Amino acid sequence: MFETAIAGSLPKPSWLSETEKLWPQWKLAGAELQQAKADATLLWIKAQEDAGLDIVGDGEQSRQHFVHGFLEQVEGIDFEHKVEMGIRNDRYKAMVPQVVAPLRLKGRVHAFEAQLARAHTTRKLKFTLPGPLTIVDTVADNYYGDRRKMAFAFAELLNQEALALEADGVDIIQFDEPAFNVYMKDAADWGVQALEIAARGLKCTTAVHICYGYGIKANTDWKETLGQEWRQYAQIFPALAASSIQQISLECYHSHVPPEMMDLLKGKDVMVGVIDVASDVIETPEQVADTIGMALQHVPKERLFPCTNCGLAPMSREVALKKLEALAQGAALARARYAEAGACE
Ligand code: ZN
Repeated sequence: MFETAIAGSLPKPSWLSETEKLWPQWKLAGAELQQAKADATLLWIKAQEDAGLDIVGDGEQSRQHFVHGFLEQVEGIDFEHKVEMGIRNDRYKAMVPQVVAPLRLKGRVHAFEAQLARAHTTRKLKFTLPGPLTIVDTVADNYYGDRRKMAFAFAELLNQEALALEADGVDIIQFDEPAFNVYMKDAADWGVQALEIAARGLKCTTAVHICYGYGIKANTDWKETLGQEWRQYAQIFPALAASSIQQISLECYHSHVPPEMMDLLKGKDVMVGVIDVASDVIETPEQVADTIGMALQHVPKERLFPCTNCGLAPMSREVALKKLEALAQGAALARARYAEAGACE
């Protein structure tokens, strides 16, 4: 009950890359970089286990950014000539590579870190991949001329890698789709369909993470414009509830998401965000347990997975570590409090 996991990313140690940045520069190269990525992956697996998390991940230590880590292994993308693009409906500008030819995987994308993580933990292993809609919103298109078409092309590549990750022993494959909360109509019209292509044939647990972004200024400024009630999920959850994806996340703690959004996810596992990633203030176990208690009004306890609102990549390592502990301790407290709570269902 209340199995805990993080959304995905964790801060990179200062010997691996720049810190507290969303697109950090690596500090090493070649074989040294590869070794440092491996060391950082093991360090965070140990830290997640020590904190008491039930489901662990690689903390995305081997990728510079959650989308571009995947793109680097895709043929048909020009990384030499990056262009500036407004992403997430122009919320922020980024230098992005361009799609210039038909897309094809060069080979495995995440075999190294997935196999390393699998070999060093007996806990459930979750692995994250960017979702198709979010990918097409983070790369410039100089070939397909149609976002939907390009998303479906990426979905096929994601499916190829996802099946290989399953064979590596990954228990949960999660697609990250922060862009779903920005392009709700596209998400419902074809984003969920693209996601199902990406997850086609998987026998492991499938998940999608949808959030309001990392705790960076562009995102916190954007959230200020969303009003008192954030109802974006209402436009996409019905399509997800009808899909084959098994676990769905939502932001909860410190957000303006109405809790009744969770009612739209009947029959799904719900990853409930109980840890704020936009604040360095560490949640108390009581606060985490209270959020879980509130979510229990909408989600049966066997379907409730306490989680972070989003990734922790841009935070300080020290704060992230404390937040992992708060998550695990809060879930433990909630287990003690709500073990007998059948009434809320
Ligand atoms: Zn997120």
